[in-house]
Amino acid sequence: MAAITIEKIEKSFGATPVLGGVSLEIADGEFLTLLGPSGCGKSTLLRILAGLEVQTGGSIAIGERVVDGVRPKRRDVAMVFQSYALYPHMTVQENMAVPLRMRRLSAWQRLPLIGRLLPGTKAVVADIEKDVMRTAKALGIGHLLGRKPGQLSGGQRQRVAVGRAMVRQPAVFLMDEPLSNLDAKLRVQMRAEIKELHNRLGVTFVYVTHDQSEAMTMSDRVAVMLDGELLQVAAPQEIYADPDDRRVAEFIGSPK
Ligand code: ADP
Ligand code: MG
Repeated sequence: MAAITIEKIEKSFGATPVLGGVSLEIADGEFLTLLGPSGCGKSTLLRILAGLEVQTGGSIAIGERVVDGVRPKRRDVAMVFQSYALYPHMTVQENMAVPLRMRRLSAWQRLPLIGRLLPGTKAVVADIEKDVMRTAKALGIGHLLGRKPGQLSGGQRQRVAVGRAMVRQPAVFLMDEPLSNLDAKLRVQMRAEIKELHNRLGVTFVYVTHDQSEAMTMSDRVAVMLDGELLQVAAPQEIYADPDDRRVAEFIGSPK
């Protein structure tokens, strides 16, 4: 069973076509990377998967469920962005708790003072704290829970962003160039950490990058994208040894 079925997805912004009918099946538990140069449409496709953008044509299923028109929160996916998108005024603990609070507490229960007085709130909040702590420890950021994003290094912020996605235990992780703001050394280290996370969780990862070596070292399969089309979808060694298309070879062979 494919975890994700992408069928003839088209997207235009106004009169400008960005995706020209992309089809792709991603297996349950696979680490699939969308690889291509800046502007080729990777983020747009990922945002459509997340429900943050609506396609102009085609259909997407996650598991057995067609998710066209389904809001982001109702999809079983979590997204990690390049810019981390952490709330600067909240602690790490609070940042990581956001997705769980949204899911497990009612709007009334989320009110700062009144919420605490409502029946059941305390028990749910205690559970959320436990789940956040467990996830933070697994990522080695348990000691940072009281800090704010401004007091963290780039790598630590990255781990918090991953933690915030992970705490929901989604069936699918979507990651859009999550390492591109980090320095080279940390980037290589974080690659290994994300791979380790994938192995440990066993859930489906759709990972976006323009960095060939990142794609080649992390992925089960790589989907090479150019100008809103997939040129080749194959295992890294196959893309390297047997490129389908001259343009694939040129991109893989080009210096970063
Ligand atoms: P990538 O992530 O591969 O760099 P994007 O998906 O961000 O590419 O963008 C693909 C193309 O779509 C680019 O030409 C970009 O300018 C355009 N684009 C992306 N988002 C919008 C938008 N909201 N409105 C108009 N054009 C957009
Ligand atoms: Mg992008």
